Amino acid sequence: MRKALSHVLDRFDSHRVQRPDRAVARDADPGELRRHLADRFQLDRPRPLRELIDDVTEMLDRWSIDVTHPRYFGLFNPSVRPAGVTADLVTALYNPQLAVWSHAPAANEIEQFVIRHLLESFGFDPEDGIGTFTTGGSEANLTAVTAALTERFPAYGTDGLRALPERPVLYASRAAHDSFGKICHLVGIGRDSLRRVELDARMRMDAEALRRRIEKDLSGGRAPFMVIATAGTTSAGVVDPIVELVETCRRHGLWLHVDAAWGGAAMLSPRLRQSLGPIAEADSVTCDAHKWFSVPMGAGIFLGRRRRPVEAAFRIHADYMPDSTEGVVEPYRTSVQWSRRFTGLKVFMVLAELGAEGFARMIEHQAAMGESLRERLLERGWEIVNETPLPVVCCTHPDLRGDRTRVQAVVDRVCRGGRAWISATRLADETVIRACITSYSTQESDLEILLRELQDALVQAHSA
Ligand SMILES: *Cc1c(COP(=O)(O)O)cnc(C)c1O
Repeated sequence: MRKALSHVLDRFDSHRVQRPDRAVARDADPGELRRHLADRFQLDRPRPLRELIDDVTEMLDRWSIDVTHPRYFGLFNPSVRPAGVTADLVTALYNPQLAVWSHAPAANEIEQFVIRHLLESFGFDPEDGIGTFTTGGSEANLTAVTAALTERFPAYGTDGLRALPERPVLYASRAAHDSFGKICHLVGIGRDSLRRVELDARMRMDAEALRRRIEKDLSGGRAPFMVIATAGTTSAGVVDPIVELVETCRRHGLWLHVDAAWGGAAMLSPRLRQSLGPIAEADSVTCDAHKWFSVPMGAGIFLGRRRRPVEAAFRIHADYMPDSTEGVVEPYRTSVQWSRRFTGLKVFMVLAELGAEGFARMIEHQAAMGESLRERLLERGWEIVNETPLPVVCCTHPDLRGDRTRVQAVVDRVCRGGRAWISATRLADETVIRACITSYSTQESDLEILLRELQDALVQAHSA
């Protein structure tokens, strides 16, 4: 084991750490990859572990977008902190089983320790609140919708949807995450139950349009039960008007869920937390640690203000499971998963290693890099098209406006150059360029390189 792990670290060091000029991304062709695999691996004979490590790391280097690169300005995929990687290694080595408390008391209590800290950071009462570590934001959102449905329609859990006299509907803005479409399919209320509310001029959920839509559904014999606010939209980092949504939910008795999958990390920064609004007024929150907490993939967090609806939704008894311990959380009875890995350890280790101030500084550094990128773009004649205190920068250029093909050509050119990675997205019916600061190691010099790549690509798109 020791030899294998140290070989992995040596490979990683020589391929990534020692090569700051490595490309962020390279082209991949599925046929080439499949031929490579078929030529190299016949699973009918054993292979030395060392050789496998060489093969796998070589493949990952050749055929991946390097999301841990300081110039990966991409889709909420972070550079990972050593503490988080170490935690995943410890988790795999010790392999604790987190279905029940009594099988892994230490692991379960470490998770609950982090959950209480996060509940407090989000303004929830840790005594009455509840939290679970999930595979990601999608599962956390699924947890929220299931709990909200169960609380509002107790018969849903026993007799199913057909026991309900009216069709349940929920609301999210057009910019909300598309996981909710799949979730509505999964929980059986159907994709059309998701009402996509119009955006206002700042690309936030239009609170007035939401009110009108709810009234219309009520008079049409539908049963509204939930509103999903987004704190940091995926395309543009925009925060919905949570104050107004809280009021609307109170008036109609609706569950308010705040999807802060990426933006939630800002709650741990005293300087940025105000910009997310009164999240403590919500019934539940999604916060993805594998986005802005800089921990490796597979770490979402669901937080609920009250434990009762969550316990009602995931209640279960199984004869083969060990008896419950008094006064503890039994994960398999309060969450979607059953057997589960020690997901919370990487969140714990990153938070504990940095400390509250260090963590806040990491978040604020990335916000400052976003601010700096905006300023540099404006100085060079680019236009910023989104409004957010968080480091997602959406921009276009007077020479590109309204020309979708040209915007895409600029993005493709930058990515193909391998010096930086950005993407295109659509905002208010216009294709624009999107760059997010996803790495805690991104510096001003990286922004400068991105700017140069953008300028070059713009000139070439112009002459093409
Ligand atoms: C990424 C994201 C999700 C989905 O989270 P996964 O971890 O990818 O499952 C949900 N909501 C928002 C706002 C997101 O940005």
